[in-house]
Amino acid sequence: MPARDFFHSVMRIGPVQIGTHRDRHGRTKHAAVCSSDDCGWSADYSSRSAAQLAARTHRCRAR
Ligand SMILES: [Zn+2]
Repeated sequence: MPARDFFHSVMRIGPVQIGTHRDRHGRTKHAAVCSSDDCGWSADYSSRSAAQLAARTHRCRAR
């Protein structure tokens, strides 16, 4: 799970936060991270639209 410190331009869709960070190769990644501690879901995407789509369709298991 990426540290919150990596995030820039964070937006929120439901329980999921979206932000950009750089991977170890210096490429910008768009990460979607569920803010629920009981869920812990996170994923990296190469485009912001893909991350937003994943956030909208995320089925949070904490509910
Ligand atoms: Zn979740």
